[in-house]
Amino acid sequence: MTVPPTRRATFMLGALILAAGVAAPPASAAAAPVAPDALTVASTPASTGSLTAAFDAAATRYGVPRDLLIAIGYAETHLDGHAGTPSAAGGYGVMNLTGNPAVHTLAEASRLTGLKASTLENNQAANILGAAAVLRSYAADLKTAQRDSVDNWYAAVARYGGATDPSVARLYADTVYDLLATGFGVPAKGVSVTARAVAPQRGTLATARASLDSADYGPAAWAPASTSNYTVANRETDYNINYIVIHVTQGSYAGSISWFQNPAAQVSAHYVVRSSDGAITQSVREKDIAWHAGNWTYNTQAIGIEHEGYIDDPSWFTDAMYRSSAALTRSLTTKYAIPRDRSHIIGHIEVPSATHTDPGQYWNWTYYMQLVNGVTGIGTGTVNVSGSLNIRSGPGTGYAVAGSLANGAGVSVYCQATGTTVTGTYGTSNIWDRIGTNKYVADAYVLTGSDGFIPGVPRC
Ligand SMILES: [Zn+2]
Repeated sequence: MTVPPTRRATFMLGALILAAGVAAPPASAAAAPVAPDALTVASTPASTGSLTAAFDAAATRYGVPRDLLIAIGYAETHLDGHAGTPSAAGGYGVMNLTGNPAVHTLAEASRLTGLKASTLENNQAANILGAAAVLRSYAADLKTAQRDSVDNWYAAVARYGGATDPSVARLYADTVYDLLATGFGVPAKGVSVTARAVAPQRGTLATARASLDSADYGPAAWAPASTSNYTVANRETDYNINYIVIHVTQGSYAGSISWFQNPAAQVSAHYVVRSSDGAITQSVREKDIAWHAGNWTYNTQAIGIEHEGYIDDPSWFTDAMYRSSAALTRSLTTKYAIPRDRSHIIGHIEVPSATHTDPGQYWNWTYYMQLVNGVTGIGTGTVNVSGSLNIRSGPGTGYAVAGSLANGAGVSVYCQATGTTVTGTYGTSNIWDRIGTNKYVADAYVLTGSDGFIPGVPRC
């Protein structure tokens, strides 16, 4: 048979999938013209359009609900493949296909798709296809009709996360279903998933214990790291705790907690903070020495706090995470009499001989230290507009509309920026109020109780 060069790889792929013994996709899907496009997409560079097409193609080929696939990718990476750079736990691409001593999704994807590991790591469409293949293999017992409902995939999703602790496996899978319930999207990548009602079938994980409480910090949960990943100590008497070290995980919240439970990791931190809502899990007792700073002297004297996200993607650094982390740091500085300054509250990059650069350029130290010092720096205001007020993604009318606020809505103002001049209810002003992550409104329509900048609220 003569095959055009651009299609040749596709046919080979199809043959390998069948040869590998994967349950064949539904007959209708196998016959549809979607499958040949999968590798056409895979062979083109990442672009806005190709991400959606890649999810569509992978979902169709392996009979995995498309939105479920996207939700896993969003939970793992906010749909950013980081140009082939691995996560802290050795995961690659938007789906974080992983190869480490406990999690083998990358190798499984290679076996199931016939694609080389390097292709799965670096090619966006291949990465998504590989994840779909792995998920489908984990759900081999689902009948065709059952596969249509995201609710039936819970066990497969939990297994994909690779956690050995049932409560962390549940944390991982619940994160994905929470995303499906609330809806989410990455407008810049042309991907969005609308909210839906979910009733995940948790199976054996339905009875997994809810996470335990932290003994050291009330608001935190407790999911202990493997004893292979930290040093038991008695720091109340044997060491002085002088530093807080701020980190970024290069991975997801549940994935990082799970990684600390993997004896092969040889790393840990005392606390991990979640991006979406500031939830905190403790992995190592404060009296013990976590391995996070890459410097033994500092490890013995420090509390390590990890923040969910990747240093090159500011979308992870939410106000909720800053506030929650700052409250933890403030509590620790009180408990251990650590000065609340940048000589004692430091980034990983500031540890002598550090080989890591976290928390990176997008971490807002000014804002964080204001919060740690108890200067909330947050103003309040009330929208006064006829109709509704546009929320913009930046401080000006040239930025995209990111939502709207009704007349009378109350807002928290985290900082104020100078931008486009607007004439509104309260006169003419070029001040814009940042009311959330990448969310600004024109101050000319907000009653804040002061003319001009609000005293005590920082400039953005
Ligand atoms: Zn670090």
